[in-house]
Amino acid sequence: MQNIELFYPYLTNPQKVVITMHQKPDGDAMGSSLGLYHFLKGLQHEVTVISPTNWADFLDWMPGVENVINFEKYTEKAVQILNEAQVIFCLDFNIFHRTKHLANHLAAANAVKVLIDHHQQPDAASFNFGKSDTQKSSTCEMIYDFIVESGYDSIINNEIAACLYTGVMTDTGSFRFPSTTASVHRMIARLKDAGLKHDQIHHHIFDNFLENRLRFIGFALANRMEVLYEYNTALMYITKQDLQKFNIKTGDTEGLVNYLLTIQGMKLGAIVIDRDEERKWSFRSKGSFDVNQFARDHFEGGGHVNAAGGRSSLSIDQTLQQFKEVIKQYSNQLQ
Ligand code: 5GP
Ligand code: MN
Repeated sequence: MQNIELFYPYLTNPQKVVITMHQKPDGDAMGSSLGLYHFLKGLQHEVTVISPTNWADFLDWMPGVENVINFEKYTEKAVQILNEAQVIFCLDFNIFHRTKHLANHLAAANAVKVLIDHHQQPDAASFNFGKSDTQKSSTCEMIYDFIVESGYDSIINNEIAACLYTGVMTDTGSFRFPSTTASVHRMIARLKDAGLKHDQIHHHIFDNFLENRLRFIGFALANRMEVLYEYNTALMYITKQDLQKFNIKTGDTEGLVNYLLTIQGMKLGAIVIDRDEERKWSFRSKGSFDVNQFARDHFEGGGHVNAAGGRSSLSIDQTLQQFKEVIKQYSNQLQ
């Protein structure tokens, strides 16, 4: 993988570009993809955003989201566009398998592949150009840097600002995680100058759910949480029946894991949700406990030091038992 700076000459010649991100895109994946989409369109490129799967309703207000192709729904069309692409940007993931059924098509595509991402352990050999920086708050911050360093930052408008703000805000827990550097705040100031209305974005993301979601959260906190005080760990599980009973959709469970770390003294929060094809884990930590490594070692996953995910093909009871067994090895680290 060559340095991203060497890619800049491509910007001046209009290209057929595809932008893609990890499956079940979150605010950062969708925000960085659409931010880059508007920027490249501003430079007269022909750009298509392809999402490997569907996404949460709370992202459906984003400028340009109506043009995003859901690969699982429109596979044939997406494959055709991928095969014709000259450049493919891969954002907010760093190894093809994070794009589920899109992975084989990305690997086979002949286009120039560009990585921009902030997760650990990138598969650099799969990309021609790129930047991987685990110190960065978000992929949106990296797209902002990419735009500024390209010299075309006068293109930054209201739409780009809204997209990039979404990812930085969601990936930093509304600017509270240690990754929120002075550069992040300087970037937000620049986005405000471009017309950003940050209050509207918080409203779209946090204050736009249906009643059932709040009742579901109350139910889960009351009935599905266990606190393992000897390991400073809070654990939660959600069954298939729970998801059905409360009519829970993609995105409704996002943020649930964060409640666990609001209990005094907790260093690790873990939630497992019984999804159709697998049990999906989310891990969050405070301080030095490395959930990326933990997820890699025990739950076929990865991510960042303080936020990671994983999966299991065991039943929900079995994977909970496994968690309670492996956590014993970390007694000292979690004290
Ligand atoms: P979440 O718990 O919100 O799904 O994910 C937390 C972080 O871990 C995100 O940055 C996400 O991209 C990453 N992540 C989630 N699941 C996986 C996984 O199965 N593998 C890897 N490598 N990263 C994951
Ligand atoms: Mn991210």
